[in-house]
Amino acid sequence: MRRFAAVLLIFNLIVPTLAFSAEDPALVGYSPRSSQTEREWEGKFRAIPDPANLREYMRRLSARPHHVGSAFDKENAEWILARFKEWGFDAHIETFDVLFPTPKVRVLEMIEPTKFTAKLEEPSLAVDPTSNQKSEQLPTYNAYSIDGDVTAPLIFVNYGLPEDYERLDRLGISVKGAIVIAKYSHSWRGVKPKVAAEHGAIGCLIYSEPKDDGYARDNVFPQGPMRNPDGVQRGSVMDFASSSPGDPLTPGIGATPGAKRLTLKDAKSLTKIPVLPISYGDAQPLLAALKGPMAPEDWRGNLPISYHVGPGPAKVHLKVEFNWDTKPVNDVIARIAGSVAPDEWIIRGNHHDAWVNGAEDPLSGQAALLEEARAMGLLLKQGWKPRRTIIYTAWDGEEPMLLGSTEWAETHADELRQHAAVYINSDGNDRGFLAMGGSHTLEQFINGVARDVEDPETKLTVWQRLQLSKIAEAKSGDDRKELRQRADLRISALGSGTDFTAFLDHLGIATLDLGYGGEDEQGIYHSIYDDFYWYMHFSDFDFVYGRALAQTVGTAVMRLADAEILPLDFVDFADTVQKYTKDLEKLLADKQEEIRERNQELEEGVFKATLDPRRPTVAPLREEVPPHLNFAPMQNAAESLARSAQHYLQALSHSQAALEQSPVESLRALNQQLMESERKLTNEDGLPRRPWYKHLLYAPGVYSGYGVKTVPGVREGIEQKKYSEAEQEIVRVARALEDEAALIESAAHSLEGWRQ
Ligand SMILES: [Zn+2]
Repeated sequence: MRRFAAVLLIFNLIVPTLAFSAEDPALVGYSPRSSQTEREWEGKFRAIPDPANLREYMRRLSARPHHVGSAFDKENAEWILARFKEWGFDAHIETFDVLFPTPKVRVLEMIEPTKFTAKLEEPSLAVDPTSNQKSEQLPTYNAYSIDGDVTAPLIFVNYGLPEDYERLDRLGISVKGAIVIAKYSHSWRGVKPKVAAEHGAIGCLIYSEPKDDGYARDNVFPQGPMRNPDGVQRGSVMDFASSSPGDPLTPGIGATPGAKRLTLKDAKSLTKIPVLPISYGDAQPLLAALKGPMAPEDWRGNLPISYHVGPGPAKVHLKVEFNWDTKPVNDVIARIAGSVAPDEWIIRGNHHDAWVNGAEDPLSGQAALLEEARAMGLLLKQGWKPRRTIIYTAWDGEEPMLLGSTEWAETHADELRQHAAVYINSDGNDRGFLAMGGSHTLEQFINGVARDVEDPETKLTVWQRLQLSKIAEAKSGDDRKELRQRADLRISALGSGTDFTAFLDHLGIATLDLGYGGEDEQGIYHSIYDDFYWYMHFSDFDFVYGRALAQTVGTAVMRLADAEILPLDFVDFADTVQKYTKDLEKLLADKQEEIRERNQELEEGVFKATLDPRRPTVAPLREEVPPHLNFAPMQNAAESLARSAQHYLQALSHSQAALEQSPVESLRALNQQLMESERKLTNEDGLPRRPWYKHLLYAPGVYSGYGVKTVPGVREGIEQKKYSEAEQEIVRVARALEDEAALIESAAHSLEGWRQ
């Protein structure tokens, strides 16, 4: 079967074709006949989505600000509900009551060496018709910052990551008792106040640097797509990665009316110090007033100033106070009951709430989701009967930190563990290349879907365009070789930052996250300028990539819902696990080498010899070289996994013809096993110090936030120098992988049993 796929690949490169004939190989998990029927329904489906509808959904839903708790958020939820009902879904709104702070007081002023008061205000622009809806806009702030009133010298800390504080140590600068100013980007924003507080800072400012999303990249809004001097990135700073996302008062359980709630002071996921986001217009006078050493070269941005680190003489006063209110989040849940296997669920979601008008984030993705639902409604009228249950969800409260999806997943955890087969997510969507992230058991599957969707600009398949763009970007000959020869393009592992988190990391449900992008720059993220006017000038304004997203995700939902056997593949998965094992060994070896080298340089006197007495620096400390770790249990488990994956693949390809006669009961039992396969990769006790995160292969990094840490227990053990913990985690991961191999083996035996 894999060889087949490779042949198909070469064929596709020569003659791009999207037409299917009777000779096409059957879809994985389908009998030849049902595969043919499925392809016909999918073909009809992909012809339906209409850019004009996508445009209209976005215009309607972005007409006013619609953050959590706002009047228009509720109106939007009801409008979406009405559409689902109109299209034949069994739909309702499910509401949770969550902690959602909004600003009461925001003051930022410089009191020394000169006086300056920050504006903290995004002005309306005459050309942009929704930018003047002042009474409904949330002010610029970071949600889940604690209240605070602090005055202290200012220090510039680059992106505010752990390695930046190591550089500060070398410069002999401590942030203890200071207020830090960090640039946005290079990590999830909440990492910045977290690390600052760990180093003793008492306040944190985060600004949008023009080098990252301002005039250094393109013209600023409204002349161009980038952030103007007053634009501010709102956003959550909840410390979700070390505790959990969702409502801070109900960790691990649904925020339903009777739920037991923590008091505010016991909530673990609030920041430890006050935080405020600012524009570069407000940041420039503060940064310009700093003295002390010049910032290291790679820390400097594009403002017309000399970037110094401080501390001082700039001294700032930061005061923030919030309304700590409980607000409703309104999730829209819409269902099509499965005709044969109603107790196996395919779930599809995208959020509907925004920080302000949110045309790009999230409505560009929400519009695609709605158009998929409309198309499926039409197919139902024409006689399409999905085998499994399909659940479409429009989440509320994603922006504050995945509130609606997390509370729903926690409330329905038992049912979901029993019934959920796959969750597919999207969020903002733009022009360009398909981004595929997810569980590696779905890598082969989603590659297959991408081969059946046409790219609107090149008319290649979106798979071909992605492959060729990756070849263009590849850094080495080995990478290019793999891109040309491996049947499937590698999908990325998922960290966090959008609504799949509870499904994958907490419940162990196989997950995909999909979207298009990469062709347009944007600097309006989480500002009042992310609106219909911006999207119609600077992004996918003819909505052809919105249509492509609807075609891609809709095809994936249908193909998963209709397959006799859930189309999971373990060969790509085992290959990925082997790669991760090698990556971890290399991570440790590199770390050992780095520390050995540094120790040697200390002995040789390199630091003393290169010291400039007018710009003094502090030599690094001597460190113990990390011990060797025993990776054998993981290597062995990865090999068992590869063997059982091959076995399952063979058993599956031999049983394809017999699938039609397979009794429903046997299929149900096999599919139950397959649904278990992602659950097996979780551990009830969770990751060290963060028990809510139960997946042993994927998690958001404690110090990267949205960025993924694969095999997080082992990887973060090594990164954080907890070597004995890393060694224990190797054993725990290996045990889960051995169990997974046994499950796959048993699924292969079930399939072989059918043929006898
Ligand atoms: Zn979003």
